[in-house]
Amino acid sequence: MARVISCPRCGKPVEWVEASAYRPFCSERCKLIDLGAWASEKYRVPVTESNDQPEDAAPDEPSATP
Ligand SMILES: [Zn+2]
Repeated sequence: MARVISCPRCGKPVEWVEASAYRPFCSERCKLIDLGAWASEKYRVPVTESNDQPEDAAPDEPSATP
């Protein structure tokens, strides 16, 4: 029986097995997010897993045209 731990990032159960390459995280994404969390305070950490929305999509941004 594999030991199951919780992903420190999102809390998802992760089996502590060889196959879980990103343990204790559930995925590469959570690992990168967590490792980058402290750094991203000052630096922008490029996460090379682009399947989400673009960064510069800011619909609420008021266009400051005088
Ligand atoms: Zn996770």
